[in-house]
Amino acid sequence: MDVVTLGETMVLFTPENAGPMRYTDRFSSRVAGAESNVAIGLARLGVQAGWMSRLGDDEFGKKIRSFIRGEGVDTSQAVFDETADTGLFFKEKLTPGEWRVKYYRQDSAASRMKPGDVDESYIAGAKYLHVTGITPALSESCYETVLTAIDYAKKHDVTVVFDPNLRRKLWPDNKARKVLTELVTQADIVLPGIEEAEFLFGSGSPEELSRKFREKGASTVIMKLGKKGAYYLNDDAEGLVHGFQVSEIVDPVGAGDGFSAGVLSGLLDGLSVKDAAQRGNAVGAMVIMAAGDVEGLPEKDRLLNFMDNRTRGDV
Ligand code: ATP
Repeated sequence: MDVVTLGETMVLFTPENAGPMRYTDRFSSRVAGAESNVAIGLARLGVQAGWMSRLGDDEFGKKIRSFIRGEGVDTSQAVFDETADTGLFFKEKLTPGEWRVKYYRQDSAASRMKPGDVDESYIAGAKYLHVTGITPALSESCYETVLTAIDYAKKHDVTVVFDPNLRRKLWPDNKARKVLTELVTQADIVLPGIEEAEFLFGSGSPEELSRKFREKGASTVIMKLGKKGAYYLNDDAEGLVHGFQVSEIVDPVGAGDGFSAGVLSGLLDGLSVKDAAQRGNAVGAMVIMAAGDVEGLPEKDRLLNFMDNRTRGDV
């Protein structure tokens, strides 16, 4: 594998009609998970990507594995758990523009991931290990699992990529701040959003905040700045790469995961950090022009075509 990642993926139900869900009897369902989105984005770009997780031994677990495997991601390390259910969540559209999200993930199969689920040789065989700040928020054993995966990566010179992916609903702010900061110190490459950087280090410019991540030990920081693009900083270079103009924002969710896939595929292709950040910008922009988290993720030829033909914004 070029990149391996681990995390929880759930089935998302969206009612067809606006209004409280108690009046709804029709739902559409999708497969949703930050880490599996990144793996799918990578697979679509021709990268060998693997996804590790725990799934309920139920219809939803099977749906998730089939979906992710069907997208060309290696799911050989996804474990089925007979004693727990797959996590689910609902996105209720109360009125147009007013959403309410309800999770059914407490004690889900994925929240029972444990260090023994991680195969050292699987990680040793990868070039990058990708982890996010969602997994350690799920449970203590998930947190230990992330630390174990990182230990194996370090032992075998696998580059550790960390996306803080702050989910404030999952844990108290002070705990999130402590654990996410700890994980920053373990990572080689950090891909934070600007709001996450401010959550961790207080307000500041992208330059100032990127330096804070470097002080904590990350060698490369690529900070997501929404439509403005991204700020990159490593030993050799730093600067802003402007975002691409989008014709219409259809669905903003998933931009960050697409961005990660673009950056990692760029680094695997030998691009500089600046050019990889630009590729991340392009994938992020393409994702938000389609509905759903993964539908807009491009194949390599479409991505390169988009980058050739689109002007970057001058913000
Ligand atoms: P997510 O909503 O998926 O959690 P995020 O908050 O992690 O995303 P964003 O900064 O919103 O990250 O978006 C990630 C990247 O996607 C940006 O750095 C940028 O490259 C691209 N992007 C996001 N929004 C826009 C936009 N409106 N126009 C152009 N590019 C965008």
